[in-house]
Amino acid sequence: MERTTCLVVGGGPAGMVLGLLLARGGVEVTVLEKHGDFLRDFRGDTVHASTLTLMDELGLGPAFEQVPHQDVDKLEALLDGGAKATIADLSRLPGPNKRIAMVPQWDFLDLLADAARLEPTFSLRMNTEVTAITKSGNRVTGVQYRDRVDGHEGEIAADLVVAADGRSSILRAAAELPVHSFGAPMDVWWFRLPRKETDDIKGGAGRFSAGSAMVLIPRGDYFQCAFLIRKGTDEALRAEGVEKFRQRVVTLVPWLADRVDHITGIDDCKLLDVKLDRLRRWHVDGLLCIGDAAHAMSPVGGVGINLAVQDAVAAATLLAKPLREGGVTSATLAKVRGRRLFPTLVIQTVQRVIHRLFLGRKLNSTETVSRTGVPLPLRIAQKLPFLQAVPAYVVAIGPRPEHAPEFARRAPQVITRS
Ligand SMILES: Cc1cc2nc3c(=O)[nH]c(=O)nc-3n(C[C@H](O)[C@H](O)[C@H](O)COP(=O)(O)OP(=O)(O)OC[C@H]3O[C@@H](n4cnc5c(N)ncnc54)[C@H](O)[C@@H]3O)c2cc1C
Repeated sequence: MERTTCLVVGGGPAGMVLGLLLARGGVEVTVLEKHGDFLRDFRGDTVHASTLTLMDELGLGPAFEQVPHQDVDKLEALLDGGAKATIADLSRLPGPNKRIAMVPQWDFLDLLADAARLEPTFSLRMNTEVTAITKSGNRVTGVQYRDRVDGHEGEIAADLVVAADGRSSILRAAAELPVHSFGAPMDVWWFRLPRKETDDIKGGAGRFSAGSAMVLIPRGDYFQCAFLIRKGTDEALRAEGVEKFRQRVVTLVPWLADRVDHITGIDDCKLLDVKLDRLRRWHVDGLLCIGDAAHAMSPVGGVGINLAVQDAVAAATLLAKPLREGGVTSATLAKVRGRRLFPTLVIQTVQRVIHRLFLGRKLNSTETVSRTGVPLPLRIAQKLPFLQAVPAYVVAIGPRPEHAPEFARRAPQVITRS
């Protein structure tokens, strides 16, 4: 049977950052990813200030700047009549990174993989899907996998298995870790519309109206659009057809009328089944969950990638030495949750409040657009702009930002891209 010290399941932001950091800490680490590459449907582009600072600490700042990306220094609300209001002003953030970088997630993951491959103790196996955990008594001792190219099956044993396999984690289910689900009032349809030079939207912009809401994320020559629908209405809305949907988009954001025809069919809209949940325990003996596998986040604030990255940094900081010395106990694993529970709890509570008091009400409202007005907190923030620093901090840095452990820090590096 194959063997490694730390087996990370899932090559998303959590898994790749953990793999890189542990390898830099001298731990033998293997990351298993079921896909053949990182290129897949949109699932988040936002690399926040806390993650940018981490990239600098890891010496990957210059390499990150080479990746095509767009910097956003403001999050705005689109108001009636084409006016705008600033929700969050990132230029007011402390520290060198006063921005959110919009980077296709596959480019970000490719960069992490290229950096990790420089470490002799790192190994990444693509097309390798974990199908089950293996146990000895109550202790998780490894995984079973299937190679998706040639179909062969095998087992890998490890001192520690880390489930970084995302919001539908099969490992957390196999370990029977109890989940606390909070529900959500909405699902999201993702689709693209062309972006023009003349469009006056530089950062993420949201339009919230009675019965519907939409967020536009600039991504080069197109907008990645998130259209919020009431939870469970996907099928009914699809049945209405594409023309009706185009009308909904134009009613919400009239200046998109000149390009909604680019939505050629209703299948252009990909459903994100919004989930907000959290494990009560993040570990069993021999297995730890991090990132979305430990806590699926709502898309509100686009914080999922960054929380996943921060979990990975905390896990690497706490586990590198015990892994090197062969002393990972349940108590050590519990410390990771102990460190990351507070920020997770704070962000999820903010998301739940926004779901309940704002988005849920908006989506269920039947008022006309002209009567919806500007919410009071937003009006106050326009009068007192320094308040725009608060949402900027919560979203882009968040509570308890993690910093790279000493063993993982490097001087700015040139990374040869594969
Ligand atoms: C449509 C969409 C839009 C989003 N938008 C944003 C956004 O704008 N900003 C933001 O911050 N967050 C966003 N998110 C959330 C963000 O993508 C996640 O929070 C973040 O990617 C979580 O990272 P992770 O590493 O924990 O899990 P994931 O990114 O989900 O990575 C899990 C990895 O595990 C692999 N995997 C799963 N099962 C197995 C298995 N059995 N064997 C081997 N590999 C496996 C998967 O292929 C995947 O690569 C969005 C999510 C979705 C779905």
